[in-house]
Amino acid sequence: MRFIDLKTQYERIQDQIQAQINKVLDHGQYILGPEIGELEKELASFTGSNHAISVASGTDALLVAMMALDLKPGDELITTPFTFIATAETMALLGVKPVFVDIEADTYNIDATKIEAKIGPRTKGIVPVSLFGQVADMDAINEIAKKHKLFVIEDAAQSFGASYKGKRSCNLSTIGVTSFFPAKPLGCYGDGGACFTNNEELKDKMVMIRNHGQKEKYLHHVVGINGRLDTLQAAILLEKLKLFPEEIGLRNDVAARYAANLRPELHAPAVKSERISVFAQYTLRHPNRESIQKSLQDKGIPTAVYYPIPLHLQPVFSGLGYRAGDMPVSEMLSKEVFSIPMHPYLTQDEQAEIVRTLNGFF
Ligand SMILES: *Cc1c(COP(=O)(O)O)cnc(C)c1O
Repeated sequence: MRFIDLKTQYERIQDQIQAQINKVLDHGQYILGPEIGELEKELASFTGSNHAISVASGTDALLVAMMALDLKPGDELITTPFTFIATAETMALLGVKPVFVDIEADTYNIDATKIEAKIGPRTKGIVPVSLFGQVADMDAINEIAKKHKLFVIEDAAQSFGASYKGKRSCNLSTIGVTSFFPAKPLGCYGDGGACFTNNEELKDKMVMIRNHGQKEKYLHHVVGINGRLDTLQAAILLEKLKLFPEEIGLRNDVAARYAANLRPELHAPAVKSERISVFAQYTLRHPNRESIQKSLQDKGIPTAVYYPIPLHLQPVFSGLGYRAGDMPVSEMLSKEVFSIPMHPYLTQDEQAEIVRTLNGFF
């Protein structure tokens, strides 16, 4: 059984993918070829954003967004400790201090009611993460940001395709960023990512930053990086994007079957009203995580833990001065969460076996 099944998806669209790849091999424009612009148009229209800027990874998307917002060493950004390292690592790369705010126990997203207490004179923005495919409390977060004149970057690396009050993730804040890492809801066949904004000035800046700060060749206006998406990955994404709306539906079917059948002790993920999750992960929790994982493993059912150590307790951030106990919800959940197979092609038989094994534990 597979945790995420990319093979079945590939088999569905093998001929089309190979045609796309051959097209790129024929025209030979491997860097910023025509598929880049085509993909950006499709991504913008899919999310409803005015602008999409493709980049080399989700990590670069965070970095490019933060660079475009002119963050300086000593600035502070408020974020969640219950996320992948890249969310705060990119801040640290720019000398920006991540300020962590604990999460909600039922959605795993930042607890918006705890943000305002952490805003200080150096706070420049808020970086909520729409974790496991569900958008964070963006209305509340945007309202706080507006009141304190802060920007908001939605880390939507796991939530591309999700909806919030009828709008798509990535189009809910100053800048939205996502990842096309193979295992994300929409993945390419390598690394990839994108930034989204409705602000034309920020768009122009991000287009420059991802390509060494240049507008015309060898004329460099700002400090940038080599953060371009490969034309080949854009061509693959153009094909995979066609399947994606159907796959969001299939992911939600799988999630609904899990929720209907799993024992309540396992805490099936809560999806708040007016939201559609893309279930990047299907995450459960239980104090006896290790024994549950073991009984699944014995049946050949793979599991994973996202995330075993919250960021405020990571050695790399020890200089920030956090201690165990500072973020009690994140710390409790990091000891209890585990994710089970979730992808659009999970069969009902496979799912029944997963449910039987999990429920059999009680
Ligand atoms: C995957 C991920 C990233 C980084 O994306 P990459 O494409 O792997 O660089 C950033 N933030 C979150 C929340 C992620 O899950």
